[in-house]
Amino acid sequence: MEKRDYYEVLGVHRNAGETEIKKAYRKLAIKYHPDKNPGDKEAEETFKELSEAYSVLSDRQQRANYDQYGHAGLGGGGGFSSGGFGGSPFEDLFGDIFGDLFGGRAGGRTSRGQRGDDLRYNLGIKFEDAAFGLETKVQIPRYQTCEPCDGSGAKPGTSPRTCEVCRGAGQVRYQQGYFSLTRPCPECNGVGQVIDQPCPDCGGQGRVKGKKNISLKIPAGVESGSRLKLTGEGEPGLQGGPPGDLYVVINVQEHPLFRREGQEIICEIPISFPQAALGCDLEVPTLEEKMTIKVPAGTQSGKVVQLPGKGFPSLQGYARGDQLVVLRVETPTKLTGRQKELLEEFALEGGEDIHPMGKTFFDKVKELFG
Ligand SMILES: [Zn+2]
Ligand SMILES: [Zn+2]
Repeated sequence: MEKRDYYEVLGVHRNAGETEIKKAYRKLAIKYHPDKNPGDKEAEETFKELSEAYSVLSDRQQRANYDQYGHAGLGGGGGFSSGGFGGSPFEDLFGDIFGDLFGGRAGGRTSRGQRGDDLRYNLGIKFEDAAFGLETKVQIPRYQTCEPCDGSGAKPGTSPRTCEVCRGAGQVRYQQGYFSLTRPCPECNGVGQVIDQPCPDCGGQGRVKGKKNISLKIPAGVESGSRLKLTGEGEPGLQGGPPGDLYVVINVQEHPLFRREGQEIICEIPISFPQAALGCDLEVPTLEEKMTIKVPAGTQSGKVVQLPGKGFPSLQGYARGDQLVVLRVETPTKLTGRQKELLEEFALEGGEDIHPMGKTFFDKVKELFG
């Protein structure tokens, strides 16, 4: 079979840059990876072809030779940069590309099994709890380490044995023309161990579905969208792999009276016209207690009264912000006959014409139409 053009194999243009080539290879290599296509000979061949194409095109010297002489340019040995193959660059690439696919496995020798997934948990909390902090327990549905086998996946009383094919490394080398390549071991799927008798409780997975109670300490000052990371509280890994992380995302419920702006709490309070005009003592709510403020005589609508230190703390633990009480003077809408009389009298007392706007309007109409 004649070798295909390397650019064609990766589906990139001849002028493609390093990043583009790497991207194209990454995408295809994941698609045709033997782990994803068990027993598929064609996928395996494509995967080998991809690896070969990439190893040449990602090396500046070899790519130049290939561009000039085609496949022949790589045959004589002269085309190889010293230490080009079997050396570290290619393994690095494998680690880089498959590291996120197989989690901790990419290192092969140090950690076994597959890293568990990260979990996200949405936690709704009350407005007050966001201000003062909260300790609570939540139940997270997640996999748990299988107890009978202690996560190993092997039937209790037995233990996994070291894979004979890769001698526990989780990776095997194979020769492809001039190239010495590595790939996850097909015998143990890159784990490095083989389970002969799987644990009946977890079917060899080393984990079972369950729920985990987790104590959470929500700090004072959190906002909607704040994210707490609990390292290692995500899904446990497969066959002894490291666990993922748990992210708790905070959603603060709205309060009927208060609104938060940064560290300040805004609270709008309606007062009547007589209260505003004459002044009064007014009871206002704060997060922890009721307080009495003095509304001075002649208060206008929109006046802001500051209550120092009654707002939100900062997440860093600095002093609390203020509460701002916004006074809204309400115009009465349902008047008794007596109240109307009194208000008209009130206006006359001030020498006030109670329909000034109306008059101006009718004057203007007169001017227009004569
Ligand atoms: Zn193996
Ligand atoms: Zn088990």
